[in-house]
Formats: sequence, structure tokens, C-alpha cells
Amino acid sequence: MTLRDKTALVTGSTSGIGLGIARALAAEGANIMLNGFGDAAEIDRLRRDLADQFGVEVDYDGADLMRADGPGALVEATRARFGRLDVLVNNAGIQHVAPVESFPTAKWDAIIALNLTAVFLGMKAAIPIMKGQGWGRIINVASAHGLVASPNKVAYVAAKHGVVGATKVAAIEVANDGITVNAICPGWVLTPLVERQLEERAEAAGTEIAAESNALLAEKQPMLQFTSPDAIGALAVYLCSDAARTVTGAPISIDGGWVAQ
Ligand code: NAD
Repeated sequence: MTLRDKTALVTGSTSGIGLGIARALAAEGANIMLNGFGDAAEIDRLRRDLADQFGVEVDYDGADLMRADGPGALVEATRARFGRLDVLVNNAGIQHVAPVESFPTAKWDAIIALNLTAVFLGMKAAIPIMKGQGWGRIINVASAHGLVASPNKVAYVAAKHGVVGATKVAAIEVANDGITVNAICPGWVLTPLVERQLEERAEAAGTEIAAESNALLAEKQPMLQFTSPDAIGALAVYLCSDAARTVTGAPISIDGGWVAQ
């Protein structure tokens, strides 16, 4: 139990990777603030399940992080609820797929607002709290697309490259304040975000989702398997550990060899 009595805020944790990270941090004893959208009864069930399973306190705040006042208010609500903030995981993200020439500007704005600006605003609000406590861990969920590009993902790739850059800047600034700042760069993880892309591909090509899953993996990853949200949770736990206290400013790939090529 490396995180007993610590508090972790995980954005976008009602689903997918964020939920995997929240579960892994709760298993280490951290109290958790969940965030994200979804059915209210389902989220409440999730909250109670995590609390019961791991004997920690779990609360939920549905702040919309696309709004400029969302991330700061969420950080403040977490401190108000738990009295502290030790771990911030900036995970919430969205995707839209289209070529640059027809990419809707409103989609660009939305992706930059959530996938990049909310990361900046979350760090901006959390760093003074963590400095005051003399300890903190900031984990930004970037992507293999924070390191390399793919066609049709201009806003996502720009935002994720921005997250890797912002991670490095923040890490340097707080290097001697007991705070580390890192970016996790996953390859394909089978979550609703990717399931939607698979559905679109299968519909466009008139194929089955299983066939598109294999094609998706084979296009990008030497290793033909998805990373699980639990494995990303385990990486987040490592980044919070004492062993990782000098790991900072690092984009850390967990991608089946995607960016090794
Ligand atoms: P997901 O769609 O399963 O989860 C996204 C989460 O963000 C949900 O909880 C959703 O409610 C929340 N969210 C959406 N809009 C929000 C808003 N405006 N304010 C607050 N919360 C909001 O997606 P996922 O695949 O788990 O993605 C999580 C992160 O991992 C994203 O940043 C994504 O870019 C990144 N990522 C995913 C993959 C992958 O293959 N799935 C790969 C690399 C990086």
C-alpha cells in the first residue's frame, strides 16, 4: 500500500484508461476523486465498488474540463473534499478523425481544449498545492501520437505533442520541489475511444469489427495486442512510487513497439 492516506484526482475516470488508473491507485490505498461523463447511477455504482473493494474514500465530480474554469475548479474541489492533492492524472481526452482540409474547426477547438489546455490548467492549479505539501506526482496521459503522427488526426496529434512538451516544461520547473511530472504514451488500448474508431472503420469498409481490430494493430504495432487499462494503471502506480522519484519529464511508451520503428 504505497499510497495510503494520499489523494489522487484522475480526470476522465468513468471509462477506459482513466478507470484503470483510478482502480490501480485505489488498490494502493489512495483516496480517489473520479471525474468524467456517464450515467449517474452507473457512476455511483462504480464509486461505491471502488470504495468497498479497496477500503478507500471515493468521490465523484462531473466537471466539464472543456470549459476554461473546469480543471481549476476540479482541483480545488478535490482539495476541499480530501484536504490534500498528491496525485493528478490528466487523462480525459477525445478524438476526431478527418483529413486536415475537411477537419471541422469546432472539433479542433474541442480537442485542443480538452486534450491540451485542460492539462495545462490542471497542472497550473495542482502545482502550488503539491509544492505546499512538498510531494506530488503529475501524470499526463499523452499517446504514441505525442511522439509520432498518423494521418487524419491533426488536432489529436497536435494536442498530444503539446502535452509531451508541457510535461517537460513543468517537470523542469518543479524538479526540486518533490514533484515529478511525466507523460504516459500508450499505443492501442481497447476502450470506448478506440471502439468508436473500429466501428467507423468497419462501417466504411463493410467489414467486421474483429477484422478491423487486427488491421488497426498491424498498421501501427509490431506487437499485435492491445495494452490493457490495468497495465497503464500499473505504470501509473510505478510513477507514484519512491523508486520512480527521479523519473521526471519523461514520455514513457507502453505501445507494443509502435514508436520503436
Ligand atoms: P474513453 O473514451 O474510454 O474515456 C474518456 C474519458 O474522458 C471518459 O471518462 C469521458 O467521460 C471523459 N471525458 C470526455 N470529455 C470530457 C470532458 N469534457 N470533461 C471531463 N471528462 C471528459 O477514452 P480512453 O481511450 O480511456 O482515453 C483516455 C485517454 O487516453 C485520452 O487522453 C486518450 O487520448 C488517451 N489514449 C488512449 C489510447 C487508446 O488506444 N484508447 C491510446 C493512447 C492515448
